[in-house]
Amino acid sequence: MAKAMFTSKDIRAELARMGIKKGVIKIILWLRSLIIFFDSRVFSKPIPIRLCRKTSKSYPDDMAGYSQKTKKHEEHYIIFISNVNGFMRHECRLKNIANLLVGKSSYEDCPYSSKDEVLIRIAAHEVRHRLQYHSTKKFYRRHIHSVKHPFLREAIRWVGLLFKEDAKIYREKGKSQKFICHRINPLEFDARVIECCIAAAVQGKEILGKDIHLLRNRRFVKKLLLILQAKPPV
Ligand SMILES: [Zn+2]
Repeated sequence: MAKAMFTSKDIRAELARMGIKKGVIKIILWLRSLIIFFDSRVFSKPIPIRLCRKTSKSYPDDMAGYSQKTKKHEEHYIIFISNVNGFMRHECRLKNIANLLVGKSSYEDCPYSSKDEVLIRIAAHEVRHRLQYHSTKKFYRRHIHSVKHPFLREAIRWVGLLFKEDAKIYREKGKSQKFICHRINPLEFDARVIECCIAAAVQGKEILGKDIHLLRNRRFVKKLLLILQAKPPV
């Protein structure tokens, strides 16, 4: 089913036909709406969001991805249907570390990640990848010395630590160098920094109610878009 589909109603019906549970369909539709939401405010030309039953060889556990234009295919986003449930359960068992960026002193003090926060930061992460491909300069670890905003500086420091820790875990688990390079690279570093800042902006807010009500709040949206399009100092 790796094809572009355009209305939520069509997608809902198709996924139901495939035997996907209601709760998972809801998550897929939210994620798709959020990707469209961010993408449409940053780019004038939309790209397809493909729903794929198979998981990615490079990212076997991921829920979503962005793929740039190649000889084989057009630029697109992708949602890996069979990973949605497991990914959400895993992420919602983790704490929202964004608290550490706003003054909470320990991991234990942080609340657990909410479903809303996970979906919004993942959507922003994928749109950031499209931005990287087209224009935005990326944040690197070295920017920790030149970024003025203390919050962003803290996000860079934190993602640096996470990457070190992740690399260690992957090696201990015997993951291949190719796998590690897919996860730990400059593009992912930059997208994780942005994701971290988005998570901090979202934390504690109930957003995905009946109609993404907070995403209609202009000031909040402006804040999210500023984070999403942040550029490092020259
Ligand atoms: Zn990524």
